[in-house]
Amino acid sequence: LARNPGETEFHQATRELLESLDPVVRHHPEYADAAIIRRVCEPERQIIFRVPWVDDEGRVQLNRGFRVEFNSALGPYKGGLRFHPTVYLGIIKFLGFEQIFKNALTGMPIGGGKGGSDFDPKGRSDAEVMRFCQSFMTELYRHIGEHTDVPAGDIGVGGREIGYMFGQYKRITNRYESGVLTGKGISWGGSLVRTEATGYGTVFFANEVLKSRGSSFDGRTVVVSGSGNVAIYAAEKATQLGAKVVACSDSSGYVVDEAGLDLALLKDVKENRRERVSTYAEERGGSARFVAVDSGSSVWDVPCDIALPCATQNELDGKHALTLARNGCAVVAEGANMPCTPDAVQVFTGAGIAFAPGKAANAGGVATSALEMQQNASRNSWSFDHTEDRLHDIMTGIHARCLETADAYGTPGNYVAGANIAGFIKVADAMLALGVI
Ligand code: NDP
Repeated sequence: LARNPGETEFHQATRELLESLDPVVRHHPEYADAAIIRRVCEPERQIIFRVPWVDDEGRVQLNRGFRVEFNSALGPYKGGLRFHPTVYLGIIKFLGFEQIFKNALTGMPIGGGKGGSDFDPKGRSDAEVMRFCQSFMTELYRHIGEHTDVPAGDIGVGGREIGYMFGQYKRITNRYESGVLTGKGISWGGSLVRTEATGYGTVFFANEVLKSRGSSFDGRTVVVSGSGNVAIYAAEKATQLGAKVVACSDSSGYVVDEAGLDLALLKDVKENRRERVSTYAEERGGSARFVAVDSGSSVWDVPCDIALPCATQNELDGKHALTLARNGCAVVAEGANMPCTPDAVQVFTGAGIAFAPGKAANAGGVATSALEMQQNASRNSWSFDHTEDRLHDIMTGIHARCLETADAYGTPGNYVAGANIAGFIKVADAMLALGVI
């Protein structure tokens, strides 16, 4: 940790992984001999760059760009780009570190990386977002490629941003290299189901957790946090499986909708119009109300059977976890990366709440990105149903692997240990085989 001062989120993510690894180190002395743990915590390469651009008033703006190429033992670096004002190296490194083991769990041939910028797309015109993306890619292009490093979206980076970045990559390199980015539009190399994949995958995983407890989504009350890409499609799949999703949020507050979220309206407000959840409440009428963030209450105060945190890191703390437990919540599955604090996870364990960590539960997004790469490589495109079936199989496979590994290493039913150990062993074995590099 002393090597990486001030990188709080990276410290949190490494601590969380290392806490699971005691039994692994005992079973595998060869990992210690090869300094695998020390090496896996050190990114292979970190790139930090200047991103200048011109706003609509003609003023020069300046942001900072990042790409952390963390581990390529299993394949090209793979992981999203985040555009959010809070982005700094510690956040990109935590996300890149998680990504290594998540990607390993999918069983696909992809390494781990992450990138982004402190650029805030909120309130910016399409033209400003395009100019920013073009400037960002003007540096990033020299570091990425379908066999090297394949970025995707994350917070603040969706189809619009991927489009502008892909356009600039194509223009600079004079190559239509579809496999260099994932999350592309359907008409220019994207995969069906990629938009839905992280949210759907989280619900598929949570459904396996419920099934292992003799339960299901049918008739259950669900709360999601966030109202972005992951949250919307988690809510959609949960609804398709018979649940009622009664709340979602954004950074301005949350909406409670006793009748269940109207997903067509939510998508229109958030995806098409890029407005706030308060607009949803205003337009939905009777059943919905908006609670502002400064009211002091949070979306986790809304009683539910299943909680799906899908917004951002450390959004659900110990106090929120106690409220969920008091309200009878039985399952928490992380759609976001590290949304639950260590305190919250401790409360879940004490209260007998099943907890599915993001590393496993939200791996459906990157897995479907890898399916997009397969389609690009074979110049093919698959149907929605076929791709969704593949996603479903991948998520049930990850669930089974987590449980088997947790069993094998003496922590039955512990998804955190199962995910950490299974992901780590896959990467560690590949690193051993590749020698000291
Ligand atoms: P989006 O940008 O589409 O949506 C993010 C949502 O979370 C928005 O509703 C946003 O509200 C809210 N949010 C973000 N930051 C904060 C904050 N500091 N406080 C409160 N609310 C916040 O991002 P995604 O849905 O793509 O990503 C959500 C999470 O899922 C992230 O943790 C991401 O790393 C993770 N993830 C995403 C994957 C993907 O495929 N997209 C894959 C795997 C994980 P507001 O608009 O007000 O900022």
